[in-house]
Amino acid sequence: MSAVVTDAKQRGSEATDRKSETTTPTQPGLREGAFGNATALSCRECGHQVALGPFYACPECFGPLEITYDFPQVTREEIEAGPRNIWRYKALLPVPSDIETSPNTEPGFTRLLKADNLGRELGIANLWVKDDTTNPTNSFKDRVVACALSAARELGAKVFACPSTGNLANAVAAAGARAGIKTVVFIPSNLEHPKQVNSAIFTDGLVAVDGNYDDVNKLASEIAGEEEGWAFVNVNVRPYYAEGSKTIGYEIAEQLGWRLPDQVVIPVASGSQLTKVDKAFQELIKLGLVEDKPYKIFGAQATGCGPVATAFKAGTDAIRPVKPDTIAKSLAIGNPADGIYVLDIARRTGGAVEEVTDDEIRAGIVLLARTEGIFAETAGGTTTAVTKKLVETGQLDPTLETVVVNTGHGLKTLDAIADQVGAAATIAPSYKAFKATGI
Ligand SMILES: *Cc1c(COP(=O)(O)O)cnc(C)c1O
Ligand SMILES: [Zn+2]
Repeated sequence: MSAVVTDAKQRGSEATDRKSETTTPTQPGLREGAFGNATALSCRECGHQVALGPFYACPECFGPLEITYDFPQVTREEIEAGPRNIWRYKALLPVPSDIETSPNTEPGFTRLLKADNLGRELGIANLWVKDDTTNPTNSFKDRVVACALSAARELGAKVFACPSTGNLANAVAAAGARAGIKTVVFIPSNLEHPKQVNSAIFTDGLVAVDGNYDDVNKLASEIAGEEEGWAFVNVNVRPYYAEGSKTIGYEIAEQLGWRLPDQVVIPVASGSQLTKVDKAFQELIKLGLVEDKPYKIFGAQATGCGPVATAFKAGTDAIRPVKPDTIAKSLAIGNPADGIYVLDIARRTGGAVEEVTDDEIRAGIVLLARTEGIFAETAGGTTTAVTKKLVETGQLDPTLETVVVNTGHGLKTLDAIADQVGAAATIAPSYKAFKATGI
């Protein structure tokens, strides 16, 4: 472990301080690199800091590491003058200042749609859908992967890899293809067929593991410790990866005209995305880019994999791992790494974590499609259905401005709803036959 980050070098004394810090042992074949305004990795539990490198666990207490920054004064105008993708927020991300010049999929700046029809259905007066289905591989994962790819490059990785519930594998495989870096993606073998094809189209390195996501994840950690120079986006470069989710929060605020919504509903798998939207809102407040105001963050899970919702309702911090059994496979993480922080945020902001059945998820997909013309995958069905349930149970205030985050595209989970929607009326090519359908 040689270099200290370039930016920190310019800040002189900080860099010297950091040399004396303890660091976790590096992954074989990876090195430190340049990460924009990021200054260190710090432990979420004990605050211990380590230098920016391929580290994810605190050497003192094994708590998760996350990126710390020394932000310059960033203005709305500077951001608005940036590209129409996540790099408009590059000053707030752990990426080099010329990030937009290296080949990447340029995700983000997706639509924030006023959802008046859905709002009327749910009884919510002021409702928006943040629609991440239009990202390059049709899920929000392109955002996190773009940040992880940058980190992988900086750390000198030779292979770009991930354990995945499907969408992450799609995003990693596509980003690797564009960047010209070898990819290997690991998925549970029971994954939806379209999600498998959506990875295989970009890479020869698709590996289906007989087991659930938590088994795949364990295998990935083992490989990360054994193989030379592998960057597993959500394992050994997880702190960098996770920061990409902040861009959903930044975009919501910017697209609302630089203000925070009152309530946000976000799907929860590992819980990373939800915690980062909260981090984004907090950063925007601190930087003076939005006015400080209270907001509530709600988490959405499937009943067949709802360990965080269960703990929330029980009023406990103890999240009991579950064996997932739900059609919402992209949310099927039985032992969520950031679940505890999701509980903290839901409780601190006055939100909640709620869960819905597979039937409610299917109904949620159809409802969003029929009211707003948006085809969500099972995760978006979960979020829509949870929003409905939150209103019905009085947990979400229908008079307040609310944003529902739709994270993935329905074309990837067609089987989940194929029998929910009517089949085509097949007719002879005559006007009479058409009239007979009653359509
Ligand atoms: C991965 C994923 C999520 C959840 O992400 P976490 O940050 O792990 O909670 C939500 N929706 C979709 C479509 C996903 O692929
Ligand atoms: Zn620690």
